[in-house]
Parts: sequence; C-alpha cells; structure tokens
Amino acid sequence: SDSKLPNVGTTIFTRMSRLAEEYQAINLAQGFPEFDCTPELKRMVEKSMNSGRNQYAPMAGIMPLREAISEKVLKSYYRQYHPETEITITSGATEALYTAITAAVRPGDEVIVFEPAYDSYVPAIELNGGIPVFITLDPQYQSIDWNEVGSKVTSRTKAVIINTPHNPTGNVWMQADMQQLALLAEKHDLTVISDEVYEHIIFDGRIHISAASVPALAERTFLCGSFGKTFHITGWKIGYCMAPAAMTAEFRKIHQYLVFSVATPFQYAIAEYLQNAEHYTALAAFYQNKRDLFNEAIAGTGFVFRPSQGSFFQNVSYQNLSEDKDIAVAERLTAEAGVASIPVSSFYSKEVDYKVLRFCFAKNDDTLLRAAEQLYRFVWN
Ligand code: PMP
Ligand code: GLN
Repeated sequence: SDSKLPNVGTTIFTRMSRLAEEYQAINLAQGFPEFDCTPELKRMVEKSMNSGRNQYAPMAGIMPLREAISEKVLKSYYRQYHPETEITITSGATEALYTAITAAVRPGDEVIVFEPAYDSYVPAIELNGGIPVFITLDPQYQSIDWNEVGSKVTSRTKAVIINTPHNPTGNVWMQADMQQLALLAEKHDLTVISDEVYEHIIFDGRIHISAASVPALAERTFLCGSFGKTFHITGWKIGYCMAPAAMTAEFRKIHQYLVFSVATPFQYAIAEYLQNAEHYTALAAFYQNKRDLFNEAIAGTGFVFRPSQGSFFQNVSYQNLSEDKDIAVAERLTAEAGVASIPVSSFYSKEVDYKVLRFCFAKNDDTLLRAAEQLYRFVWN
C-alpha cells in the first residue's frame, strides 16, 4: 500500500470510548476528566471573548501567557525560559510533540523511545522518516537499565523521547534517571523531547523532576506541556513547548505552517488563571485521593497492582483471573462488567502479553466506586 502510516488505524482511545458507549459502560478507558473546569476559569474565557479577544493570536502565543509560564517554570524548576524566544504556545501537547519531533528528526535518524509509549510519538517519528528504536519495559517496571539504553545508541541516533509522570504506567522518574539521561545525551549529542503533561499529578510526596531543572538536559530539550490535564480542559487543546532559543526558532518555523497560532480567548483565560498557584498545586492531593479511593475499592477483586506514582492512570494485572490477551479482557469487561479500560499492549510496538489493563481515575468518586463494584461483581460471579 502507499499509505504513509500502514500500521495505523483508529486509536485505541477512540475505539474503547466507542465500545464503552455501545455497552453503556463506565468509561475508565480514554484519559480525560469526568468533571468540569472551575466556573472561575470559564468566566475568564467569557471575559476574554466579550472584550474582543477573538482574532488570531501572535504566532508564538500571546505574551501574557508566555510570561506566566516563564514565571511558573522559574519558580518550580529554577530555569528561566525567555518568553520572547524560548516559549511557544501550541495546540495541546500533541502539536508540541509533533512539531518538536519534526524539528529534530531527519530521514534515517534513529529516535530512542521507551515503551510502553504514548501513541502519538511513533507516527510522528515515522512521518519524518525517522526510525524508532525501542527500549521495552515491563508495564510494572521498577527501574531503567541505562546500560541497555546506552547500547541502543548508534551514530545515527538523533533524539530520545521521555515522559514523566508516565502514561500509561504511572511511573515517575527520579533524579538519578534524569542524570543518567543527561550523561547519555551529552556524550552522544542527542536532542531530548520531554513530555511532562502530568507534571502536577504526582503522589506520595514525590517531586516532579523536570528536564528544565537539569541544566545539562534543558540546553538540549524540547519540553512539552499541556493545560488539559492540569485544569480539566482536555478539550481546549492548549499546550506549549519550551526550548533554548536556537531550537525554538526551528520549532516555530514548523509551528507557523502547521497551525500558525492557537485559540486566542483560551490563552488569555489561562494566563490569568495561572496567577494563582493554588490552581495547580492542589492537583496532586486531589488525584491522590481518587487513586486511593479506586485502589481500595478494587482491592478485593483479584487484580494485582502497585499504586500509581503519578498521572491519572492505575495499571492492574489480571494474571490471577484470566489467561486471555488484554484486548479480549478489556472488551469483555466493557461488555459484561460495564467498565471500559485500555489494554496496555496497545502502547507497545510489538506483540506483548503482560496481562495488564489501564484504568483512568480522573472520574467522580461515585463513578469510581460504581466501577469498582461492577468489576468486583463480575470477577466473583
Ligand atoms: N502526552 C501524554 C503522555 C498524554 O497522556 C497526552 C494526553 N492524553 C498528551 C501527550 C496530549 O496532550 P494534549 O491533549 O494537550 O494534546
Ligand atoms: N491521552 C489520552 C489517553 O491516554 C487520550 C487522548 C486521545 O484520545 N488521543 O487516554
């Protein structure tokens, strides 16, 4: 076939959401909050629309939003990104990632990808003629083997993509991992693409180690962020990319012709909303409560899990309950238990059989309890 993406179909998120609808199942599959953003944030959008902020934004994003991000990142990660030359507002992290990959990758370049991996990375590499080189991790992995990572680097390796807190495993990288990555990236002059969309959703007192906070990384990193997860606005598709000025200049050449600029009234609203740090610092405790509620409620089902360290996903192993492949189990749970999840094999490039499902706990407490009860009843019937 002459398809440029012969192995790509409809994403697993779309398929499982559709199946959930078909069976009227509780949708713990696709990752998005069940609850709304705050009325305050909506009023800020209304205000910006009513004051005529409805035409094209500047190509790189409105300055107040770039300034607000710069201040927030300086406070949180101690690196100053200059709003003028180093921060670009994007159409979600998805566009930031695609544009960063396009800026970095030439035909034949190899890009190191840790799998399980979020589904947009590999198609973006391939559309640019790059070759993904996988570090395959068990979804319940405890640590990264940095010798293995080093052994995958060749003279053609151009970039490495990382994601912490991680979708789908819920793993969080520690300082040691970031230091190892920095050593490797410096030694081989690699570009780093760091997906940090879950930066504020991190549990049990852990601290998010941003690529921005490691100087040796920051100077070679496209840092991709999003407000979708942080403010319960996944439908607004507002994100950003931060990188040193020379990298940002290349990034903007592509961004300019991919989208030119992104929705103006939302940018003004978020710029204003960011002025109060509580709007994002409260998120970790909020989601930790949900994780704990869900995990306690499914404790007796026979699913085996380690509590998620970050993100709004909990992975569970059903190895004690079924021999079947995760896709079959996810479909059966949707149809018969009325609870949709994502089979974790869909985050791998190759056939794997870890017997792990991903549940999204960004849902109202009563939804999580109902889902757990339905799973419990199904398993013990
Ligand atoms: N990266 C990861 C790891 C994600 O989970 C998501 C959202 N599902 C994205 C990127 C995309 O973010 P956005 O919705 O802002 O495009
Ligand atoms: N990022 C979301 C998830 O992991 C889904 C986004 C999408 O549907 N593309 O579930």
